[in-house]
Amino acid sequence: MHVVPVPALADNYIWLLHDDSGNAIVIDPGEAAPVEAALSARKLALRAVLLTHHHPDHIGGAERLRDNDGVPVYAPDDDRIAVATHRVKDGETLTLQQPSAHFDIIAVPGHTLSHIVYVGEGVLLCGDTLFSLGCGRLFEGTPTQLLSSLQGLASLPGDTLVCCGHEYTAANGRFALTVEPDNAALKQRLDEVARLRAANRPSVPSTLSSELACNPFLRVDSKDVADWCSRHGASNDPVARFATLRSAKDAFRA
Ligand SMILES: [Zn+2]
Repeated sequence: MHVVPVPALADNYIWLLHDDSGNAIVIDPGEAAPVEAALSARKLALRAVLLTHHHPDHIGGAERLRDNDGVPVYAPDDDRIAVATHRVKDGETLTLQQPSAHFDIIAVPGHTLSHIVYVGEGVLLCGDTLFSLGCGRLFEGTPTQLLSSLQGLASLPGDTLVCCGHEYTAANGRFALTVEPDNAALKQRLDEVARLRAANRPSVPSTLSSELACNPFLRVDSKDVADWCSRHGASNDPVARFATLRSAKDAFRA
């Protein structure tokens, strides 16, 4: 499966996955035009739309794609996603024929309560739950929920491609570096990100193993992150550390 990040809106990525026979799916089309252009340029036929959560910058283009291409729209069971034709839920496997693909559905409450991710074909389509070097804001869930959701994703194979919904990596990295200034893997990743962005290339997908080494929100039990959280008032507890990190990131201005 080919994995293509399609830039959309201000800093979103719509993920385009396609096989060698011209069959494509897209994940979280916040707008339709960039998808249509990417399909046309690659001579691909759209077969399905997958949605992770209800925010407009992730679903805004789904209706036009559904109606113009006559494709199914898979989404979590949430009335705020009226465009859906098929509902999927935690524990199910979504099987597609064209392109041939299987995706496990995992509920990841936190950024929103009904947020799901799709895992399969070597990729994690994680919407706004996990970002490279960061994680989603807590709009609806609790720190306990989002930490638990992230810990579930952290147990996936290390070579899984992390396909997240935004180009936030550089800004996330500036915060991560304040938490772990001595993390060599993080500094190496930031050099890579700077090179990619200077060339106007996406910084994602990353790999899960890279995130485990560099992303403070997946590292609340590592010594340097725990020490930083302790200095910033967190009690000696993973959820307290995670909440402290998330609040500090919300307030952070690089
Ligand atoms: Zn969102």
